[in-house]
Amino acid sequence: MDNPEVIILGSASGKAETDRSHAAIALRRDKDVWLLDAGEGVTSSMLRHQIDPEQVRSIYITHLHPDHCVGIPMLLQYLHMSGYQGTINIYLPDGALDTFQKFLDQMYLIVGVINPRYYLKPLTEAHQIVSDISLTTHPTRHLQKWEKMELIGLETRAFSFRLTIGEKGVYYSGDIHSIADILPYLKEGDTLILESSHIDPDIILSELPGKGIRQVYLTHASTDMFADLEKLQFRANKFGLNIVVVEDGLKLAL
Ligand SMILES: [Zn+2]
Ligand SMILES: [Zn+2]
Repeated sequence: MDNPEVIILGSASGKAETDRSHAAIALRRDKDVWLLDAGEGVTSSMLRHQIDPEQVRSIYITHLHPDHCVGIPMLLQYLHMSGYQGTINIYLPDGALDTFQKFLDQMYLIVGVINPRYYLKPLTEAHQIVSDISLTTHPTRHLQKWEKMELIGLETRAFSFRLTIGEKGVYYSGDIHSIADILPYLKEGDTLILESSHIDPDIILSELPGKGIRQVYLTHASTDMFADLEKLQFRANKFGLNIVVVEDGLKLAL
């Protein structure tokens, strides 16, 4: 069995870019792929980075902003047009299951009609992906300003994810309100994939050094933020914090 790999498929922020897809991360081992988020362009990004979309077994969605989930219909359409008959499990915050199913049905991606079978399932606190890989989910405050929309039946929760891969930990912030959302859950030795659109870079330098984070990968940045991120990278080194600014296709050093 090969060692698992984690590959960034989409590193753009919520705004479209010429050379970046939207949020998506692939965890791959041998012929199995699991996706954390599936933003716009996830299927073409998989093809660009030599990942076979037919190998996707499950998708885990942090929240329902389009830059994190609208790649799902196009992935299903691709699999249908390829004649793929396999099964794919799609885990979402559970308040969105019915509306998301209607959204897919309306795009004629109807279970039992299209070739791939897919199942929408609720995200749970802890989920065993395979025997030595598990996912835990932690709520964040990213969507707190939408909380009142619960009254009209909308899902307003967002989650961050921690992957435990054997002895190793990979923490994916998803989108957050502030770094305090994830600090309680980070463990020493974790590799952190951190979104950089909703947090103050100086907070990274004040909060993360000394936490034993192995490596920080900054993602979810718009192109005009990049110059600043590179400066941040330089400053972080002085604090003993390793920061890498992510581009699509980057394979994490686990
Ligand atoms: Zn986002
Ligand atoms: Zn978001």
